[in-house]
Amino acid sequence: MRSEPRYTKRDAEQAIHKPGERLGNFLPEDAPSYEDILQCMRCGFCLPHCPTFAITNRERSSPRGRAQLAKAVAQGELELSEAVCYEGFFCLDCRACTTVCPAGVKVGPIMEHVRAQSRNEVHPLPPGWRQFREFLLEYMLPNHDRLEDSMLAARLYQRLGVQWMVRNSHLLELAPGTLGETAEKMDGMLPKLEPPLRNRVPELVKARGEKRGTVAYFIGCIMNLMYPEVSRATINTLAHQGFDVVIPKSAKCCGAPHLTEGDRETARQLGEHNVETFLRWDLDAIVTDCAGCGAALKEYEELLEGRMDERYLHEFRSRIRDVSEFLVGAGMRTEDLKPVDMTITYHDPCHLAHAQGIAKEPRQLIEAIPGLKLVEMFESNWCCGSGANWGLLHPEESEQVLDRKMANVVKTEADAVVTLNPGCHMQLAWGVRRSGLDQKAYHLMELVGRSLPEESVPPAS
Ligand code: SF4
Ligand code: SF4
Repeated sequence: MRSEPRYTKRDAEQAIHKPGERLGNFLPEDAPSYEDILQCMRCGFCLPHCPTFAITNRERSSPRGRAQLAKAVAQGELELSEAVCYEGFFCLDCRACTTVCPAGVKVGPIMEHVRAQSRNEVHPLPPGWRQFREFLLEYMLPNHDRLEDSMLAARLYQRLGVQWMVRNSHLLELAPGTLGETAEKMDGMLPKLEPPLRNRVPELVKARGEKRGTVAYFIGCIMNLMYPEVSRATINTLAHQGFDVVIPKSAKCCGAPHLTEGDRETARQLGEHNVETFLRWDLDAIVTDCAGCGAALKEYEELLEGRMDERYLHEFRSRIRDVSEFLVGAGMRTEDLKPVDMTITYHDPCHLAHAQGIAKEPRQLIEAIPGLKLVEMFESNWCCGSGANWGLLHPEESEQVLDRKMANVVKTEADAVVTLNPGCHMQLAWGVRRSGLDQKAYHLMELVGRSLPEESVPPAS
């Protein structure tokens, strides 16, 4: 049962805050909701579940501390200072606190608003960085073609042996400060790159066997660029399960990277475009195999409130499904699946387990695949330390969070750790590499794809 928040008289007066009005020392535009902030009753249940509190033992880096900082700013008792903004960006937005919070306080989303405020005129980035951020968020990410073109250099880096030279010469150790560490990590996280999938699949893949419906596949940027063959496995699986699969080529980034960086306006523009794009089709579901994309798409209703007709937003929201949620909900046809003999452990992506409340469906999907054996790890829903760009902005802390995760992975003695989010996949693959483990990291759909009968796997284009 949820406890009632304890409002003070002052809280009650300030709760009459109206949208568009200035909320204490927050800017009017994109301020967090005061009602959300006030829900925190300081019980501290969230503290043992917060990765940034675990590594710092610092109250202000805990969910309770962050809620209190936001409250103090909202009540005009504290400036929107560097320290407050730092905590906005230091929060992993993993949402583990919300899962355990008796009042359901959404500290992660509150911190997303703090980031937006920070990147406004309060604490703008230095020149150069500001332009770089705009280039990435406004020029590159909204355009699949540009992103895909940019990956050619990375593929050449791998194919021409430059990556091998960099890794074996330890060149990166000579770089100043944390630059070398960050570059080494970025290099270590790179999977073996294949050409992006978006232009190698038709816009409609027909169902196999008896048709059960029509779904769209939302091709996320990272899946398309880093794990195209996993995306292909997802599409093949959906077709094998009897669904026509529409892959709208004009869909854009879900906006999650923009929300992470506090660029809510570009995220809104992308959201509007995606809602319009997908609602042109008559669909039973819009399926994604990226937990981060799924969480962002499911939260469009809040992001686009007042910008689009709420009936469209509701209709769009009602169709979004994580691939495990969709396949288990539809009922897996398993009669012709091949065995995949492997013992695995499962890492719950934060944006699946905490942001979307999906934890049992991935396990049910694993159970449905013949030969796959699941060994649960301790703290399977503890963050892996990726957190979109968090791992790059806070490399030392990210390694501490990752070390905790990898220690739990090792204890299972499983052949592999699997997950359902490309960011976690890259981070876990890096964890395996830097720890010199024999275990492998997979996206679950890669293994599901291996179980498909030959005739369900069209030749790669
Ligand atoms: S965020 Fe929730 S769990 Fe944490 S102190 Fe506040 S009310 Fe308690
Ligand atoms: S979202 Fe995660 S990192 Fe942020 S306060 Fe909550 S538990 Fe801590």
